[in-house]
Amino acid sequence: MQRAAETAQEVPVRPSVDADGGPKRISVLGATGSIGASTLDLIARNERAFEVVAVTAHTSVDVLAERARLCRAERAVIGDPALYDQLKEALSGSGIEAAAGDEALVEAAQMPVHCTVAAIVGAAGLKPTVAAVRSGQRMALANKECLVSAGDVFMQEVARAGCELVPVDSEHSAAFQILEQADAEGIEDITLTASGGPFRDWPLERIQRATREQALKHPNWSMGAKITVDSATMMNKGLELIEALHLFPVETHQLRMLVHPQSIVHCLISFVDGSVLAQLAEPDMRTPIAVALSWPRRMAAPTKKLDLAEVSQLTFEAADEVRFPAIRLAREAMERGGMAPAILNAANEIAVEAFLAGRITVPGIAALVSETLHHAEGRGLVREASCVDSVLECDAHARLIAQELLVGGGVGA
Ligand code: NAD
Ligand code: MG
Repeated sequence: MQRAAETAQEVPVRPSVDADGGPKRISVLGATGSIGASTLDLIARNERAFEVVAVTAHTSVDVLAERARLCRAERAVIGDPALYDQLKEALSGSGIEAAAGDEALVEAAQMPVHCTVAAIVGAAGLKPTVAAVRSGQRMALANKECLVSAGDVFMQEVARAGCELVPVDSEHSAAFQILEQADAEGIEDITLTASGGPFRDWPLERIQRATREQALKHPNWSMGAKITVDSATMMNKGLELIEALHLFPVETHQLRMLVHPQSIVHCLISFVDGSVLAQLAEPDMRTPIAVALSWPRRMAAPTKKLDLAEVSQLTFEAADEVRFPAIRLAREAMERGGMAPAILNAANEIAVEAFLAGRITVPGIAALVSETLHHAEGRGLVREASCVDSVLECDAHARLIAQELLVGGGVGA
C-alpha cells in the first residue's frame, strides 16, 4: 500500500485519469455541505485530473452558484423549485446550466460520469442517489441514511446496475481498504470506532440539560449539523452499524463498536486466526473521499500527516448504552430487520430537527425514536421493503407518527 503524501502541494499531482487517459467526470450531490466542500477542495487541488459535471443543493442557492463557478460545473441544481430564478441569476454569464426541483436532482444524478459523490444528508438523498446507482457508475457513498433506510433494496440496485460502491464514511472506508487486501471468508468481527462525541464523559443529568451549541461542538470532526448531533447522541454509530451490515459480508453479531476519543483508528477487523487489521488516519474526510475518488490508486490529499509520537496515546473504551440509548435502539432495529431501520432513521431525522429547533432535549431524541418505532410496529409498518418506493412510503409514514408524537407532547420534552 502506498503512503498518503503529507500535503497536496509537496507531491506532484498524480492524475487519477480514466481508462482513456482523460480527466475523471465527477458529480457532487449535496455540494454545499461539509462533504461537498471537502470533495470540491480535493478536486480543486487536482484540477487536471477531474471535471465537475453536476453540483446540487437543497436551498443554499448562493453557495451553490459560487461553488459551481469555482469548479466550472456543467450544471447546478437547486432542490427547491422556488429558487430557480435566483440560481439562474447567480449563474448568469457563467455558461453553467441552472435547474431546480426534485426531478431535476434525479436528472442531474443520471448525467454520464465516472463517479458520483453522494453527499445529500438524510433519506432525502435516496432518490437521486439510487438514480446515480442505476447509471452504473462508481458511487462514492457518504449518505449513510440511504443504506440505513433502504439497505437490501439499495444493495440490490447496486448489484443490478453493476455499480462500483465505495464507502466514504471514514470507518467504512477503513473497512473497505482493509478488506480489499484480506480474505473476507476469515472475518471474525468488524469494530467501528466512535469518538464518543462531546458528551462522552458527561453524567446523564448534564446531558439532559445540554444545549444545541454544546451538541454541535464535536471534539474531532467538523461536519454538517445533523451528523454532528447524531455523533452527540451516538445514533451516528448505530446508523453506521446498519450501514456496515449492508456493505460487508458479516452478520449482526459480528458488528461491534468501541469508543476511541482520538479518532485515529477508524476500524479494526479481527480474523479467525487471531490477526487484527486496522486503518489509521488523522480525522479529515478528505482522506476517505480521496480513496473513493481514486481507488484502487492513491491520490494526494492535504490531510495532516499522522504522527503517532505526537498523538502519543490511543485509548479505547466500551460504549455506555445507558447514557447513549440510541446505540441500543439502532442495534435492535438492525436485528429486527425489514423496515425497522427506515423507521428508526426517519424518526431520528425528525427528532434531530426538533432538538435543533429547541423543542426537545438530547435524551428526548432517543425517546422520540423509541416511541415512533413502538407505534410503527403497532401499525404494521415493520415489514420487508419491496422497492425504493416502499421505503419512501414507510419513511413518510414514520415521519408523520414522529410528528404526531411531538405535537402530542410528552415525548422528549
Ligand atoms: P451537510 O448538512 O453539511 O450537507 C448536506 C447537503 O445535502 C447540502 O448540500 C444540502 O444542500 C443537501 N441537502 C439537504 N437536504 C436536502 C434535500 N431535501 N434535497 C436535496 N439536497 C439536500 O451534511 P454533511 O455533513 O456534508 O453530510 C452529508 C452526508 O454525508 C450525510 O449523510 C452524513 O451522514 C454523511 N457523512 C458526513 C461526514 C462528514 O464529515 N460531514 C462523515 C461521514 C458521513
Ligand atoms: Mg463515520
